[in-house]
Amino acid sequence: MKKFAFSKIGQKLTSSIIRELLKDVNVPGMISFGGGVPDPKTFPRYKLSEVAKDVLENEFAFSLQYGPTEGDDVLKEAYINFLKRNDNIEGLTKDNLLITVGSQSALYLLSTILLDSESKYFVSKPVYLGAASAFSMNSMNHIDLPLSEDGIDTDLLEEKLLELDKKGEISKVRFIYVIPNFHNPAGVTLNLERRKKIIELAEKYDLLIIEDDPYGDLRYEGEGFPSLFKMAGKNRVLLLRTFSKVLSPGMRLGFVIGHEILIRKLVMAKQAVDLCSPSLTQRIAGRFLEKYDLKELLKPTIEIYRKKKDLMLEELERNFADMEGVHWTRPQGGLFIWLTLPEGYDTMEMMASGKKNGVLFIPGSAFSIGGGCDNSMRLSFCLPSEENIIEGVKRLKKTVVEYGKE
Ligand code: PMP
Repeated sequence: MKKFAFSKIGQKLTSSIIRELLKDVNVPGMISFGGGVPDPKTFPRYKLSEVAKDVLENEFAFSLQYGPTEGDDVLKEAYINFLKRNDNIEGLTKDNLLITVGSQSALYLLSTILLDSESKYFVSKPVYLGAASAFSMNSMNHIDLPLSEDGIDTDLLEEKLLELDKKGEISKVRFIYVIPNFHNPAGVTLNLERRKKIIELAEKYDLLIIEDDPYGDLRYEGEGFPSLFKMAGKNRVLLLRTFSKVLSPGMRLGFVIGHEILIRKLVMAKQAVDLCSPSLTQRIAGRFLEKYDLKELLKPTIEIYRKKKDLMLEELERNFADMEGVHWTRPQGGLFIWLTLPEGYDTMEMMASGKKNGVLFIPGSAFSIGGGCDNSMRLSFCLPSEENIIEGVKRLKKTVVEYGKE
């Protein structure tokens, strides 16, 4: 086989475990709780198609052309209004906003401008794999904070920061990365007390917080908390949002909201990566936001997901309540439930029998850099039908019982 000489980063790159594991998703009869993709039925395709036609025919000089690296002013203005109306975030100008190719590319750009090989950063355990991949391109020095129902362990964060400060290494810490609402993969939400604590610690040690919030608008019940960005402002927090889970992931539109100095630096990095985000989808989304109330349009989507989430929780209760040591998170929104089996169960090993029984899930270790979370799994409830949720959880129980007997 022909050999090519790769860079150190190139050599480190491996295929995403999740993509590998989900290869069997199209096997006939398979029920998948694996992928975290939205239900296509929720895409507002006819409304988008109408706006797209108009944008293509009447705004072709912008929408089919290269655009500014910072993003389309029309979408920026519409999104600043959206943030004002829905998140009470005031005082933003266009200089506080960068439009990226989904928030995944924002994570990559942040890794580029913030991390050197000796830099340290805090992430949750389990972690969102896409963030871990982007950050570890430049530095492997992640410090893991375990998650509970209330979000990351802030006592441990305090302890670790104190330790680093004593060792004179605090300047190596570049950021604390949090997914505040309906965490991927754990489904949990950071409570108010912990939000305050993270901000207090970030103030004390002069650290940046990266707040990655793709799921905040998918709340099915209960009251939300203010964003860390709203609480602490642009000097302390960089907020990442995306249209992927609320409008369409195919449009590939993400938003970085933060201090103009950080935004400017990200713009320079983005120039080297892709010149600009797609003008066409930006302008379509901009006009779409001007015309429709996205929050209002999300109501039926929220209804669909809430029902599926409740059903999966009921079925987990029905099937696993009698099994000692099995527990799972109870998200109030988002797309994921995190199921944990007793110590000794290995969900990666269970994949094969799961597939044989016709059910797919993502093993916990896929969300853990350098090992751990072996006895957990991520279950996504957004894509399977209600009948398949019922049948899939039964198959999952069978798989777990069979494994326990081995
Ligand atoms: N952050 C988190 C926590 C996610 O779950 C995802 C998508 N699964 C992303 C970022 C990236 O999303 P996108 O690039 O589609 O905006």
